Amino acid sequence: MAGMTTREDCVRADAADPLATLREEFSLPDGLIYLDGNSLGPAPRRARARAEELVAQEWGEGLIGSWNTAGWYDLPGRLGDRLAPLIGAEPGQTVVCDTTSANLFKVLACALRIAGQDSPGRRVVLSEPDNFPTDLYVAAGLTEQLGDGYALRRLSSRGPDGSDPTTWLDAGLTEDVAVLLLSHVNYRTGAMWDLAEVTARAHARGVLVVWDLAHSVGAVPVDLTGADADFAVGCTYKYLNGGPGSPAFLWASPRHRDRFSSPLSGWWGHARPFAMEPDFEPAPGVTRFLSGTPPVVSLALVEGGLDIAGRASMDQVRAKSLALGDLMIERVRERCADHPVGLVTPTEPVRRGSQLSFTHPEAYAIVSALIDRRVVGDYREPQVMRFGLTPLYLRFVDVFDAVETLAQVLDHRSWDAPQFRTRATVT
Ligand SMILES: *Cc1c(COP(=O)(O)O)cnc(C)c1O
Repeated sequence: MAGMTTREDCVRADAADPLATLREEFSLPDGLIYLDGNSLGPAPRRARARAEELVAQEWGEGLIGSWNTAGWYDLPGRLGDRLAPLIGAEPGQTVVCDTTSANLFKVLACALRIAGQDSPGRRVVLSEPDNFPTDLYVAAGLTEQLGDGYALRRLSSRGPDGSDPTTWLDAGLTEDVAVLLLSHVNYRTGAMWDLAEVTARAHARGVLVVWDLAHSVGAVPVDLTGADADFAVGCTYKYLNGGPGSPAFLWASPRHRDRFSSPLSGWWGHARPFAMEPDFEPAPGVTRFLSGTPPVVSLALVEGGLDIAGRASMDQVRAKSLALGDLMIERVRERCADHPVGLVTPTEPVRRGSQLSFTHPEAYAIVSALIDRRVVGDYREPQVMRFGLTPLYLRFVDVFDAVETLAQVLDHRSWDAPQFRTRATVT
């Protein structure tokens, strides 16, 4: 893919792209270049028919019987098993349920109890200030709740380019740390940790690791089994195209999961929910991490996104994601050189996820002006323009055209208008 410098080169690359036909599986508005699939993936075409079937038949006709006859009851585990190959998990180790925030609370609590049992002096959750805010809030909330020396420690960030992760880890993994809580791919910068290396380093220091895979799953290869990881959570509405607010996933290593149950020990995590027993007995395996009745409508729609993801190999997805990224980096360098646009994302493939982030003092207004021209990226504090590169439906020409539009917006200062400065509630 090297040396794509003209639009014709991009057209040729699209024609040779083994993933090209998957684009037809999504409903994408004509003429829109969607570079925000890392935040909310587009709807699979089949989602509408599935939603209709679910509401009209399974719910409308089948009513309560559908818990048994339409497979609703088993959905969390069945979807977990469908998602498993994307994260290097074995069957029976993953459930789809609740939100990433709630799942994080559950696994973090479990990890702290395991650490507490194995080495009582370890009570610190180590993270970076640049981690996704909900991860920090949940960790702070949980450790405050526990009291008794439990605390969240936010060691200084690795720096905007994610530089020198080894030094960061060596400084951070002290004797009092119980759990290392990291996002595999940083939501703002797109910098990626080496999951296997970090896990091994943490384990060597007696520290468990909780990975947030929200910006990894479906975007970059992940091998939790190969890395001998401890716990992981992540979203299905980003690169997995499960729908707005679709339930998250939770993975627990079989090494740990039977030692403790979730602190949200609801009846769906019980060994026999419908025995209606007065005492909680955790279900065997990862099912114990379920809490209450799942949101079936939204949960069922996760399957459509997983169907499409299952038709591509992660190696193909990764290769195309990096090629789209290389193209964008190159085109921005070429076309936006006269403007104060800085690349935040590390360029080395091993340290880059599937998004690119650029800074500009007027980032918010520029993103708004781009959206007005039907190029959809998003804005993140401070001054970051974020562009998700999603190989299942993005074409090389889309990236080429997006950068042309960006260059025009910059050259003509089109962003410099009051309507582009007004902040929306969700950015
Ligand atoms: C998007 C994202 C979340 C979102 O969590 P929700 O509970 O679904 O709102 C959490 N963590 C990371 C790293 C994310 O990127």
